[in-house]
Amino acid sequence: MTRPVRAEISRGKLAHNYRLLRDLSGAEAELLAVVKANAYGHGLEGCARALAAEGARWFGVTCVEEGVALRRILPEARIVAMAGLWHLEAEAALEHRLTPVVWEKPHLSWLETAARKLGLSDVAVHLEIDTGMSRQGAAPGNLEVLLDRFQGELRLEAVMTHFHSPDDAEATAEQMRQLAEALEKVAAAGLRPTYVSAGSSASALLPRGVAAELGGLARRAGALPMLRPGLALYGYSPGSGSGFDLRPALSWKTRVVSLREIEAGTSVGYDATFRAARRTRLALLPVGYADGLNRLLSNRGSVLVRGRRAPIAGRVSMDHTTVDVTEIEGVERGDEVVLIGEQGGGPDPERITAGEIAKLTGTIPWEVLCAIAARVPRTMVD
Ligand SMILES: *Cc1c(COP(=O)(O)O)cnc(C)c1O
Repeated sequence: MTRPVRAEISRGKLAHNYRLLRDLSGAEAELLAVVKANAYGHGLEGCARALAAEGARWFGVTCVEEGVALRRILPEARIVAMAGLWHLEAEAALEHRLTPVVWEKPHLSWLETAARKLGLSDVAVHLEIDTGMSRQGAAPGNLEVLLDRFQGELRLEAVMTHFHSPDDAEATAEQMRQLAEALEKVAAAGLRPTYVSAGSSASALLPRGVAAELGGLARRAGALPMLRPGLALYGYSPGSGSGFDLRPALSWKTRVVSLREIEAGTSVGYDATFRAARRTRLALLPVGYADGLNRLLSNRGSVLVRGRRAPIAGRVSMDHTTVDVTEIEGVERGDEVVLIGEQGGGPDPERITAGEIAKLTGTIPWEVLCAIAARVPRTMVD
C-alpha cells in the first residue's frame, strides 16, 4: 500500500445483513447473493468468502468474466451470470460451470453447441421473462418457441423476472401477473423448474408483500422461490424499505497528509471556488475524483475528522481534496479521516453514508459504492 487510502469491509456486518435477509425471506426461499460489479465495489473475493461462510450457496454476477473470477474463489458455489451471454462466452460459461440467464434462441444455440463440444448432457439455465423492464427477457406471449428447446442438453432450472419499480405494489402486481402467465406456459410445455426467481433487495425487505406472493406463485408451479438481494447485503436499504437493522459494511478512510493556515480572502483549489472568509485551517486529503470521490461534492460534502464533520473546501481534484478543519481542535498530520462510515464512537457516532453522498450528488447509493475506484485497496476487517 503506497498511500493512506483504503476501504475496509466488515465481515461481521456482511454476515449480519445476510442473516437478516435470510430471516425476512422465510425458510423455503433460496437467496441468491448478488456480487456483481466487484461486490458493489466492496471487493469480490472477501465478500464472496464471507457470504459463503455464512451459508450462501447461490451468487449472482453480471457476466461470464466475473463468473470465472468467482469460480476461482468458490469452487463449489452456484454462480448465475445474470446479464446473459455473448456468443464468444458460451464455452467459457460451461467450462467454469456457470449458470447463464437466457431469453433468446441464439443463447440456446450457442449453449447447445458448447455443451456438445464439451460432452455435457445436463446444463442448467435460468430463463428470463420480460414483464416490463424491456431490457432483457423473453415476452410471455412468445415463449413456446423457446420452451421446445429444453429437451436435450439444456435444463430449465429457473424462471426469472426483474421488477422495475419494487416499491410500487401495483406495478409489481402487474409484473407478477405476467410472470404467472409465463409459468402456466412452462407447465403446459411439461417443464418443471426448480426455482421461480424474482425480486431484488426491495422485495426481500417486504416479506409480507412480494416475497410471500412470489412464494405462492412458485408453489403453484411446483417450485421454490428465489430472491436476489444485492444492495441490502452491503447494508443499505433501497427506496422506502427502511426501518430494518441493515449495517453498512464499507468504511472508506484516508488520513490528513498535510495542513496549512490561510488568511481571509485566500482562494482554495481549481477555479478558486472557495475563498476563505476568515483565517482558515485546511487539511489536505490524498483522495480525489479518480478514487471515486464525486466532484459534485466540491463545497457541498464533508468528511469526518476527530469525530466531527469537516466541510470540503473548494473543488475536489483528481487526486486531492481539501477540507476546512478550523472548527476542529487539534487536527494533526496522520489523523484518520472517514469519507464513508462512522467515527467518534459512543452511542451516537457521526456517520456519513453512501445514501447521504448520493443525495448530494444526484444519484443512488448503488452508484456511489460502485464508483469507488479500483486503485482504492479493499481490506476485510471483523
Ligand atoms: C442487480 C440485480 C439485482 C440486485 O438488485 P439490488 O437492488 O441491488 O438488490 C437482482 N437481480 C438482477 C437481475 C440484478 O441485475
